[in-house]
Amino acid sequence: MTADLALRNVRIVDGTGAAPIEGDVAVTADRITGVGSAGPAAETIDGEGLTLAPGFVDVHTHDDGALLRHPGMEFKLAQGCTSVVIGNCGFSAAPAEVGAKDPSGLIGVPPDWSDLAGFGAALEAARPAVNAMALIGHNTVRSLVMGDERRAPTATELAEMRAAVATGIEQGACGFSTGLIYEPGRYSETDEVVELAAAAGQAGALYATHIRNEGDHLLQAIEEAIEIGRQAGAAVQISHHKAAGARNWGKVVESLARVDAANAAGADVTLDVYPYTAGSGPMAQYFNLDRLDPELAEVIRFASCPAFRPYEGRMATDIAAEQGVQPVDVIRQVLTAPDGDRTICIQFIIDEADIETNLAHPLMMVGSDGIPDLEGRPHPRLFGTFPRVLSRYVRDRGVLTLEDAVRRMTSLSCDRFGFADRGRVAEGQFADLVLFDAETVADTATYDDPKQEPAGIELVVVNGQIAYRSGDHTGVGTGRFLRYQPSYR
Ligand SMILES: [Zn+2]
Repeated sequence: MTADLALRNVRIVDGTGAAPIEGDVAVTADRITGVGSAGPAAETIDGEGLTLAPGFVDVHTHDDGALLRHPGMEFKLAQGCTSVVIGNCGFSAAPAEVGAKDPSGLIGVPPDWSDLAGFGAALEAARPAVNAMALIGHNTVRSLVMGDERRAPTATELAEMRAAVATGIEQGACGFSTGLIYEPGRYSETDEVVELAAAAGQAGALYATHIRNEGDHLLQAIEEAIEIGRQAGAAVQISHHKAAGARNWGKVVESLARVDAANAAGADVTLDVYPYTAGSGPMAQYFNLDRLDPELAEVIRFASCPAFRPYEGRMATDIAAEQGVQPVDVIRQVLTAPDGDRTICIQFIIDEADIETNLAHPLMMVGSDGIPDLEGRPHPRLFGTFPRVLSRYVRDRGVLTLEDAVRRMTSLSCDRFGFADRGRVAEGQFADLVLFDAETVADTATYDDPKQEPAGIELVVVNGQIAYRSGDHTGVGTGRFLRYQPSYR
């Protein structure tokens, strides 16, 4: 049999964590059809000196709308990502009210769908470059059912929310997500979340959570997440695990110990992390205008600031010094301006040592948490996350081996998030592949110049088609809307 594509003389890091082997890989249609020797092929790529791995999976994204607005998904594809998990932190594109304004501002597309099946159809019609697997977001569902009510749901509202989550999972979502620091999720009590996470748990799907507090109350929030998983009968994914704020640095050791203890006692908890010391998100969500936090204001940098475009890429402290005011005054000026609520900020709140502690944990996956607002200066994690793990934490710092890093970016993620037949270089798997130079792969995106594609990524294959080659995006658009397969977790 003649294969469609042969990648020859490559070093295969197969995604399982096993030691690399040298050989060829054959691809026919959308599947891997040979590993070791490839036989004849219509197209051959000589990968001498390069490493071939399963395409990376970004388990923590806000790409729901970007898949429609920027179907080329260049910022992900160029990192070697072939799949993204959307609907994180409680914000998902579906369900939705047709034509309604997106309350979170994170989606950025007026919906012409009302449920996940409709969104999946819109996504496939857009022919995105990468695959997408969806979570159903708590904030989204709560806004739809309860508006911005700051109270517990009635029994009827709770039942309506649970039905919406269950429908999403029936239509292919891999789980239910929360963002318990955000509006309106922060108004929910634990038992509301348990009830909704149970709709996921009942179907064998995940509960993925941006926990209620990542700073002073990190440990209580981790305990709440574990407890929700236990009561809901759902596996738990702790999103972007961190200890925020200098006085909390180092606490990730204790929170990981709590996760380990829970797992030893029968829980099923895993995590993800992004490899940067700054977070990023909608600024209005982090500040209370009645009580602006001066400590947080000190570490704020503006990423996207429609109200004051010249602030983009600058620290609030620098702008304040220039104007002879305090950083909190700059925050107030921005948040109270028209469109101030659309500001995306970057906050330097994480300790470098904690990133290494996180990455060394065997159940830690990689998720960029990038916010795909390409105006302004987005956090560089949007463009650099996966190559940065491979360059800084594998090659330079030796925090983990290449095989183990690839495992956390591929098979571990695919198994956890219910991707069928993806995440390994093995015969019969879908041909989502990345070919890279392990000696030179590196992120080049910086806070000052964030929209830079990484170095050392040579070739990316999505469902058997070449989507990226030596810096060129081919535009084949072979990404798919993936549906959760419970047996894979
Ligand atoms: Zn989050």
